[in-house]
Amino acid sequence: MGFKISHSNNQKKVKPFYGPVNDDDGTDGSLTLISPPDDAGYASWLIQHPSALNAFDSITKEAKWKKVVVFLDYDGTLSPIVEDPDKAFMSAEMRMAVREVAKYFPTSIVSGRSREKVKEFVQLSNVYYAGSHGLDILAPPRADKKVNEGAFQPAKLYLPAIQEISIELEDTIRDIQGARLEDNKFCISVHYRQVQPKDRETLKERVKSLVENRLEFRLTEGKMVLEVRPSIEWNKGDALNYLLDVLGFSNAKDVLPLYIGDDRTDEDAFKVIAGRREGFPIIVSSIPRDTIAWYSLRDPSEKRVFEWMDIHHFRCFFVVVEVVLYPLSFVNDSRLPNHFRM
Ligand SMILES: [Mg+2]
Repeated sequence: MGFKISHSNNQKKVKPFYGPVNDDDGTDGSLTLISPPDDAGYASWLIQHPSALNAFDSITKEAKWKKVVVFLDYDGTLSPIVEDPDKAFMSAEMRMAVREVAKYFPTSIVSGRSREKVKEFVQLSNVYYAGSHGLDILAPPRADKKVNEGAFQPAKLYLPAIQEISIELEDTIRDIQGARLEDNKFCISVHYRQVQPKDRETLKERVKSLVENRLEFRLTEGKMVLEVRPSIEWNKGDALNYLLDVLGFSNAKDVLPLYIGDDRTDEDAFKVIAGRREGFPIIVSSIPRDTIAWYSLRDPSEKRVFEWMDIHHFRCFFVVVEVVLYPLSFVNDSRLPNHFRM
């Protein structure tokens, strides 16, 4: 394979914040909450991670004459976080925005969900899908191949073991009210958003204990969800590199990956972009968080619906106007890369 996985620590200099982990912040238990979610704390954090909306000028200036390749997380980024993970639907407006983006930029959805499930939610045929945190990628045929060889599944050999541990997990959480198992093919998710706070530690301990005894698996944590994944070194950052390679950009000097995500697992992709020292790692968060991302977008809050509506509108605006319409003004310019010409 032609691509190399970057483990570089050469990140853009952003002074890190540190603080206590808070699992009861009402949003998740996945990332470090570094200050109370007040306006002053958020404003201070924004200095380190400026709003991608406000950074319009610098982003478009940097992107001019470059090839932008778009990567989007799904839950909490394209869709709001909801109580029932089966109902995390994206809006028609967001779907339209992503469809427009994908017309002009190679666009991939990179999700912890199974590839089939995230495709059902997104319902677009002009994007690529990477499910199970990148362990299941259906990309276009490589330039040197005439036919698509099917999905790239680096953990395929783990499938029987994944089904085994899924049954064991089902047994171990069966008596915890509100606990819910989701089979994401190469990743088994244990949702505890609807579990009583007093029972959450019990659930976590049981799942942790079960996974500790199975060396072929590892445990990661997302927003109110524990995720049991094969213990191979492959994450969303590796998926980003893989997709850049099969899209023919592995050796290109003028490629700018743009990645928008809201979860700890998205940090792996931010890390890859930071290692390249070029691109746009953008975290979606309404509270200050410890992150490698250089830019931020404020996310929906269950308690601030009206603000979410505004943010939702602005996010669509950001994607459609600032990323899509800007290059459209150059579509007939011969200096544009082929991908941008109509
Ligand atoms: Mg997410």
